[in-house]
Amino acid sequence: MARAAVLGRLTWRVGEVRALREETPTARTLILHVPGWPGHQAGQHVDVRLTAPDGYTAVRSYSLANSLANAPDAERVELTVQRVPDGEVSPYLTRILAVGDPLEIRGPVGGWFVWRPDRPEPVQLVAGGSGVVPLMAMIRTHRAASSRAPMRLLYSVRDPEAALYREELADLAASEDGPEVTCVYTRAAPPGRSRAPGRIDADLLAAATWPPEAGPSCYVCGPTGFVERAADLLVAAGHEPARIRTERFGPSGGSR
Ligand SMILES: Cc1cc2nc3c(=O)[nH]c(=O)nc-3n(C[C@H](O)[C@H](O)[C@H](O)COP(=O)(O)OP(=O)(O)OC[C@H]3O[C@@H](n4cnc5c(N)ncnc54)[C@H](O)[C@@H]3O)c2cc1C
Repeated sequence: MARAAVLGRLTWRVGEVRALREETPTARTLILHVPGWPGHQAGQHVDVRLTAPDGYTAVRSYSLANSLANAPDAERVELTVQRVPDGEVSPYLTRILAVGDPLEIRGPVGGWFVWRPDRPEPVQLVAGGSGVVPLMAMIRTHRAASSRAPMRLLYSVRDPEAALYREELADLAASEDGPEVTCVYTRAAPPGRSRAPGRIDADLLAAATWPPEAGPSCYVCGPTGFVERAADLLVAAGHEPARIRTERFGPSGGSR
C-alpha cells in the first residue's frame, strides 16, 4: 500500500460518475467507477481536479467514504462533498456534476490517518461536520471486516438536518457489533435533548468517549478549529498524544 500511495500521488485517473446520493440539502455522495483504481484504506483521501475549457484547473482534496473490505467492486470510489458557500469546486460537485460525467482523481493519498481492521485495540472516532467522511470509511470497514475492535463515534454537527449518513449510523449503532454513536449539536438540538447546543467540552468527552485507561487509538477529523479543540481535550483527559491522529479539513489544493 505504501507503493500504491506513492504512485497514487502521481497518477491522474479519469473516473465516471455512476450514481449520486443526496445526503443532506447541502451535501452529496459521488459514486465513481475508476478503471485501474489501486485500492485504498479507511482514512485516505484523493485529489479531485476540475479543468475548464480554457485550461484553468482547480484541485481539492476529498476523503474516501467507502470501504473496499469485502467489496465486490474494487474500482468503486465514493466521496461525500459538503457544499461551501461561494466555493470554487464544492458547488460544482454538489450541484452540476451529473451521472455519466467524467471526473479526474488522483490517489489514494495518506498513510498516517488510516485505520486497519486487523488492529484489536478500541477505536475512538471524533468528527466535526463533514469530518465524519473518513471516519465513516473506518466504520464501514469495521463492519465489512467483522472487526471485534470496540468502536465509538462522537459526532458534532450544526443541527440534525446537517448530519451525514444519519440513517446508516442509526442502523449500525442499533446492531449488536456496531459502533456506539453519540451525536451532539452546535446550533440546534432535536427536541428532548438534555444537552444544550454548543461546542464539545471535557464533560462530554468524559461521558461519550473511551477513557485513556482503555488505550484507544483516536482519530479526530473536521475543521481546523474543531480538530485542535478536540485533540487538546483528549490530551487534557490523559490520552497519549502519539495515539491521537488528526486530519484537518481546512482549505485545500489550489488553482491555476
Ligand atoms: C485531507 C482533506 C480531506 C478533505 N475531505 C473532504 C471531504 O471528504 N468532504 C468535503 O466536503 N470536504 C473535504 N475537504 C475540504 C475540501 O478539500 C475543500 O476545501 C472544500 O470542498 C472547499 O473547496 P471549494 O473549492 O468549494 O472552496 P474554496 O474556493 O477553496 O474556498 C471558498 C471559501 O471557503 C473557505 N473554505 C474552504 N474550505 C473550507 C472548508 N472545508 N470549510 C469551511 N470553509 C472553507 C475558504 O477559506 C474560502 O473563503 C478536505 C480537505 C482536506 C485537506
